[in-house]
Amino acid sequence: MNLFDLSGKTALVTGASGGLGQGIAQGLAEAGADIVAVSQSSCETTLEGIRKAGRQGIGISADLSQADLLENVFTQAMEFNGRIDILVNNAGIIRRTPAAEHSREDWQEVLDLNLTTVFLLCQLAGKHMIAKGAGKIINIASMLSFQGGINVPGYTASKHGVAGLTKAFANEWAGKGIQVNAIAPGYMVTNNTSPILQDEARTRSITERIPAGRWGTPNDLKGPAVFLASSASDYLNGHVLCVDGGWMAR
Ligand code: NAD
Repeated sequence: MNLFDLSGKTALVTGASGGLGQGIAQGLAEAGADIVAVSQSSCETTLEGIRKAGRQGIGISADLSQADLLENVFTQAMEFNGRIDILVNNAGIIRRTPAAEHSREDWQEVLDLNLTTVFLLCQLAGKHMIAKGAGKIINIASMLSFQGGINVPGYTASKHGVAGLTKAFANEWAGKGIQVNAIAPGYMVTNNTSPILQDEARTRSITERIPAGRWGTPNDLKGPAVFLASSASDYLNGHVLCVDGGWMAR
């Protein structure tokens, strides 16, 4: 299983305080990586899991929607082990209001964190990876990188953008030893989807449409993240991997 071994690697995971980011960070640590967990809220429970897996980790608190802070966040991340081999752009928000009433503030907040921050962190990590001639970038996309969704026009635009950006960076950097790919999760049980989960009828109709017959959990992203972070995916570039219990196949 050496193909999937991440020993000696350091991963920066954004939005790692809970939800999918926590599952991804834990999966990468279990495969051998040390973790820089960045989030607006405390990453302490994530760091506990990383230590239990026998790896090292640090947390960095930052509002990643503030573009001016990102260079400093990346510098702090580099100070941990002197390297970032894997970047996971996972932090993201959603704002739900009908398209006709969707405010410009909601639109901008979502685009800032979900798309502009992804672009800027890819650039910061990418420059470092280009200098090393190796690196793995995993952006977290969505089913709404392919579909329109309901009441979430800003989110849908941002996630279509993440898919495009993944391909744009992948094209330029594939020849430099850097693989840029994305994971598009289906419906997963996290804070992001808790408003939907409170609506029993909608939850049931979504579940019925998922061929696997259940919603995903943060643990379901461990394997796909390890694959895209490891040398098992060295010839995979610009791919958006649906981890959705079959939603897109239906
Ligand atoms: P979540 O709300 O549970 O976690 C979001 C994480 O991002 C948290 O760690 C939070 O602290 C962090 N965060 C939010 N705003 C931030 C900011 N300004 N600065 C720094 N950190 C910030 O949500 P989740 O479901 O785990 O979402 C993770 C990613 O997965 C997002 O990009 C989301 O769009 C995507 N996604 C989720 C689902 C789903 O069904 N849950 C489906 C598809 C895609």
